[in-house]
Amino acid sequence: MFEFTMTPEQIALRDEARELAKSVSREYILDMDADKIKYPKEYLQECGKRNLIGLRVPKEYGGRGLGWEEDIIALEEICVNGYMFGCTYGVTGDVVPEAIVHFGTEEQKKKYLIPICKGEKFAAECLTEPRGGSDFFGATTVATRDGDDFILNGQKRFIVGGEGADFFLVYARTNPDVPAHMGMTCFMVEKEMGVKTEYVYGLMGCRGGGTARVVFDNVRVPKEAVIGEVDGATPIFYQMMIPERFGTAAMTIGAVRPALEIATDYSTKRKAFGRPINKFQGVSFKIADAVTKLDSSRSLMYVTAKAVDSGAHPDLCRRLVSEGKKFVTEQCWDVANLSMQVMGGIGYTDVYPVEKILRDMRLSMIWVGTNEIMSVITQHEWYKERKRELENTTKRNSEFDAINAFIEDEKIYE
Ligand SMILES: Cc1cc2nc3c(=O)[nH]c(=O)nc-3n(C[C@H](O)[C@H](O)[C@H](O)COP(=O)(O)OP(=O)(O)OC[C@H]3O[C@@H](n4cnc5c(N)ncnc54)[C@H](O)[C@@H]3O)c2cc1C
Repeated sequence: MFEFTMTPEQIALRDEARELAKSVSREYILDMDADKIKYPKEYLQECGKRNLIGLRVPKEYGGRGLGWEEDIIALEEICVNGYMFGCTYGVTGDVVPEAIVHFGTEEQKKKYLIPICKGEKFAAECLTEPRGGSDFFGATTVATRDGDDFILNGQKRFIVGGEGADFFLVYARTNPDVPAHMGMTCFMVEKEMGVKTEYVYGLMGCRGGGTARVVFDNVRVPKEAVIGEVDGATPIFYQMMIPERFGTAAMTIGAVRPALEIATDYSTKRKAFGRPINKFQGVSFKIADAVTKLDSSRSLMYVTAKAVDSGAHPDLCRRLVSEGKKFVTEQCWDVANLSMQVMGGIGYTDVYPVEKILRDMRLSMIWVGTNEIMSVITQHEWYKERKRELENTTKRNSEFDAINAFIEDEKIYE
């Protein structure tokens, strides 16, 4: 798929990721969906053995030092086994390392990135709280100074790897006297420091990732666990939102792709009124719509990867990542629904995995920032961009390409 955009090295990486996906047994996939596997440690260990965790992490810390283009190629393939495979893989190997690579000390990079990339330790990220996820800066988890240490108190909700992870990247309020964006700190908290997993959620889909509520009850954290600066969490949060949202969008394409493939094959075999159902346009046009949605999603992802890798303006990257997350997840949700519709009743049963894919897919529009929040960011960045453009543009101003464009009395704005 889209091989024409790939270098030979990227194709080789894609094939490695495909091999990994094929190596997972169907029992493992079913056991995750049945919550018999709480967290896919064995799978992540295997990823580590194959040096497939932390593709963008610099080589000296165990990664492969690749870019986003490579990352999204691998993410698509990895998610074919199920959304939660990609999510646990992405949180431990993409999202949490993003903070450490960009803001960690040399010591922290060695301490955390090397075992993560080897698949020996697993990381979780803790942003969302019971009181709300969209309003990130309203966080109430606090870290109070105690000599050289901090004492952490609070709760985080819906944490993938809450059950199973060794390292928890936690955002906490460290200065209540300033606006939240100036008074939060990011910590790497280790399980043994006293992180408690209090409740594992029963989920509609995306099971087997240890999604839990984690509690910090007077957890003593040394100052060496601070990532970046004290009270300096805001730039880390913004940096992490790239893998969080962009990675999620890329994963979603892989997670839904099997539904379309299964529905396509089914439609050539299943007959109604004496003909294969794909001979009815009512069916084959659904397949056409689904293919178009998947291809347009992938196209946007590839362009966004180029923007981020080439160091395009951060505001533009933020817009592309946010609009991409919303667009791709909505398109992929449609792909899952169209695939199910093509299959009729059997698509709704557990004879085919399409129902599981649809259950998994629903989350994509909610997590890592809801799609409403993606719209909030997209419009915000777009208005800023347009304002900058108006101040310094070489473009034609199309407003005046109308017969009565200069009747000022009609151009009333207030
Ligand atoms: C299975 C699962 C796994 C998750 N994994 C993680 C994880 O690993 N780490 C982590 O930190 N979090 C995780 N999350 C949390 C997830 O990111 C949040 O659920 C999400 O950000 C939404 O927060 P909320 O659930 O508190 O909803 P709320 O913030 O309460 O929002 C409720 C509704 O209000 C809307 N809304 C809120 N504010 C606005 C606004 N300004 N404009 C328009 N609409 C608005 C929202 O879009 C939504 O529809 C996970 C969630 C789930 C379900």
